[in-house]
Amino acid sequence: MQFSLISDTFEKMESTTKRLELTQYLVDLFKATPREIISKVVYLIQGKIRPDYEGVELGVAEKLAMRAISKSAGIPVKKIHEVFVEDGDLGHAASKILEQKAQTTFMVQQITTERVYDTLLKIAKLEGTRSQDMKMKYISSLLNDATPQEAKFILKLIMGTLRLGIADNTVMDALAIAYTGSRENRERLEAAYNVSSDLGRVAEEIAKHDLRGLDNFRVSLFSPIRPMLAERVKSESEAVEKLGHEFAAEYKLDGERVQIHLQDKKVVLFSRRLENITSYYPDIVENIAKSLKTTEIILEAEIVAINENTGEFLPFQELMHRRRKYDIAKIVGQYPITVNLFDVMYLNGKSLLDTTYDERRKKLEETVIENDFVRLVPRTIVRSENDLEEVLENAINAGCEGLMLKVLDAPYRAGARGSNWLKLKREYRNELGDSLDLVVIGAFFGKGRRTGRYGTLLLATYNQERDTFESICKVGTGFTDENLDQFYQILQDKVTLKKNPRIESGMEPDVWFEPEIVIEVVASEITLSPVHTTAKDVIRKGSGLALRFPKFTGKIRDEKAPEDASTDQEVITLYRNQKKITQNPAET
Ligand code: AMP
Repeated sequence: MQFSLISDTFEKMESTTKRLELTQYLVDLFKATPREIISKVVYLIQGKIRPDYEGVELGVAEKLAMRAISKSAGIPVKKIHEVFVEDGDLGHAASKILEQKAQTTFMVQQITTERVYDTLLKIAKLEGTRSQDMKMKYISSLLNDATPQEAKFILKLIMGTLRLGIADNTVMDALAIAYTGSRENRERLEAAYNVSSDLGRVAEEIAKHDLRGLDNFRVSLFSPIRPMLAERVKSESEAVEKLGHEFAAEYKLDGERVQIHLQDKKVVLFSRRLENITSYYPDIVENIAKSLKTTEIILEAEIVAINENTGEFLPFQELMHRRRKYDIAKIVGQYPITVNLFDVMYLNGKSLLDTTYDERRKKLEETVIENDFVRLVPRTIVRSENDLEEVLENAINAGCEGLMLKVLDAPYRAGARGSNWLKLKREYRNELGDSLDLVVIGAFFGKGRRTGRYGTLLLATYNQERDTFESICKVGTGFTDENLDQFYQILQDKVTLKKNPRIESGMEPDVWFEPEIVIEVVASEITLSPVHTTAKDVIRKGSGLALRFPKFTGKIRDEKAPEDASTDQEVITLYRNQKKITQNPAET
């Protein structure tokens, strides 16, 4: 298939923000794609070459890409650097440069999607001393045969800067329409995606065998399952109202969620975002099997850093010391952890997703041999609001964030946020001393001490239904000098030329970012706002909701995807709850 079909589609998608149009462009593209290469096309649309959990990375630095463009265009690297600085995106720069060249040369060969994809895969697999030169040769050979528009998207794919403004849900909608004629079958695709975390494979099966192809998807070792998520409740009484008079309350620990896959001696660990994080935790790889009475299992746990002398749980940030490629063996001893198991999804060749929570917990208890390193998350069966209050008090005293409340007879709903799991944090009980996890979508440059860095960040909530990020506040307090430097470094790479179509905001910051970084803030109150777009028109026509006096808590929530940020619905609940509290004293 000609790559121009893909680059034309990407071009059209970049110029619209309407979800229906975006979906239709994808439907047209899928219909024109030969079935054998549909998985490759889906990965490219996601800006990837393989599913995330395989950790396939191209490892091409800007300098190297510029050398490749220079070679193809016959223009010095310095000149390319100038255009790049002006443009801010290597893809745009390359297309501009090649456009000038195209006027003087003839295209010899049309470039195919297969060739682009296979070359990218080859680049990712290169290792060793000569790999940099080889990578450059591969890229420039693609550019030699590419039109300026194709070159633009090839470079965006290579540099990881392709932004089509769509989430996986839109891709699934389009696949369902293209192959089954109806968007309604999206749920079937989603079920397959939830157990495989591989949208390319889902597309391939449905393209080859229609919906029947999806029956082949089973939980399998070393393919991560998309995690089950919780809704939040604000009080014990709301929890009891929702869950009835018998449910489980587990301690909610503040660490990193991990999915552990074990078969004989092989151990693979996946993060909540389904990236392979095995290398950060060699201690789990070495010791987990000793704590289990089986050799084939998929488990879920919260990894928490501890103080070895006192046994105390340490804050989540302590785990970030493990995020390094080198010297990890040395670090392991300095930052000890505990593995706190709370679920089992697969045991001895069988999926447990359809087994009830209660049964799964029993199996977990039968299979785990507890010790200092591996433990079961403490849990209690709760039968009244009083019980619940007591357990919550105990959890807080033990250094937990709160509780996870779980319906006893509910299955494991992979990839779904629902009311079978509820989170109850201490702060939600009364005023909004509560923290929110918000997405950084823009920034204003700083003045004085903050000159040359971002002084204020623009933050957004996530709207699940519309798959958009809607602004809720600006935050400029709570930052240390170190934070300011750190934010500048992290966010510089996320700057976009124009606002990502998934962002909705009435504000115009100095720079827009890709919605990728999630940070934690606290605030004194939620108020109505004419400029912010979270919950726009819900409480009052023409108004959204905003945070008053927001403050950064110091936590960058690395482990959270932007879609895991606090939602507009959560903010509406907090707003309504706060109104109740402020009204109550007046009534009494
Ligand atoms: P939140 O990050 O606030 O949405 O809360 C959900 C997270 O709590 C999960 O992703 C887990 O990382 C964490 N967690 C801690 N303890 C538990 C538990 N007992 N059961 C499930 N998740 C837990």
